[in-house]
Amino acid sequence: MSAIIMDGKALAAKRKGELAKEIAALDRRPGLAVILVGNDPASRVYVTNKERDCAQCGIYSQEFALPAQTGQKALLQLIDELNRDDRVDGILCQLPLPQGYDYDQQEVLLSIDPRKDVDAFHPYNVGRIMIGDYTFLPCTPAGVMAMLDEYGIDPAGKRCVVVGRSNIVGKPMAMLLLHRHGTVTICHSRTPNLAELTREADILVSAVGKVGLITADMVKPGAAVIDVAMNRNSEGKLCGDVDFAPVAEKAGWITPVPGGCGPMTRLMLLENTLAAARANLAGRK
Ligand code: NAP
Repeated sequence: MSAIIMDGKALAAKRKGELAKEIAALDRRPGLAVILVGNDPASRVYVTNKERDCAQCGIYSQEFALPAQTGQKALLQLIDELNRDDRVDGILCQLPLPQGYDYDQQEVLLSIDPRKDVDAFHPYNVGRIMIGDYTFLPCTPAGVMAMLDEYGIDPAGKRCVVVGRSNIVGKPMAMLLLHRHGTVTICHSRTPNLAELTREADILVSAVGKVGLITADMVKPGAAVIDVAMNRNSEGKLCGDVDFAPVAEKAGWITPVPGGCGPMTRLMLLENTLAAARANLAGRK
């Protein structure tokens, strides 16, 4: 195996230790409100993990677990209260919202005060990312950028290919690479000749959700291959989009799944909550 393994788990652990010290030096603990509507098991696991991360760093997280039938109006009312509560620095509403009820996800995202929008999903924050003047970045692309920086991989002047164009991963990922002077191509399900494009990439980010999508013949020798996806293979094991062992023979750097982008995504929520708390505290001085 020739590629350097980009160890997101170790990097996130190291940074969490630093964050805990920065948080301890604040006038008060940052506060994160976590809203979970319904009882989707995967969402439950995500929320529990996020709350555990907060506790480890000294962030106070308060959970609002609402039954699926709560409804849009009551959910918006809760968000309005949290928007006005000065002890709450960040608000996270775990997505997706339950199906079969009157939830309007876009309206929920719009209702969160952009200064507390630690997921960076509010259109105001999305717009700020577009112009390169932002407080919050969506956690997954921000985590990828932090990993590239840690391993000394500078996107400037490089060919970057992002596979996937979702609002939470693919599009902001492409924008961040562009801000850092990469030459960026975005691919999606209707891109013909995907392999031709991925083979040109010095930095290849795959954010699709398809086991075995990126094979060794699609990768340029020496490239940095970032696997954002979290899939289950036929044996039920967690894996990404990238055919790991053969691609690792060819790439210069590669992220494992698990232990690559996942821990970095979780870390970035903590970074965003700290940033929100700092801004909140500064605003009141
Ligand atoms: P998504 O909204 O489903 O988007 C998937 C994207 O992949 C779409 O843009 C789709 O294209 C594209 N696509 C589908 N099939 C393709 C193909 N054969 N070739 C090229 N592109 C194809 O997913 P997402 O929310 O961005 O998440 C992507 C993956 O990352 C998932 O596995 C998810 O679990 C994972 N994820 C991981 C983390 C983490 O912390 N590591 C965080 C978020 C997401 P169209 O737009 O044309 O449909």
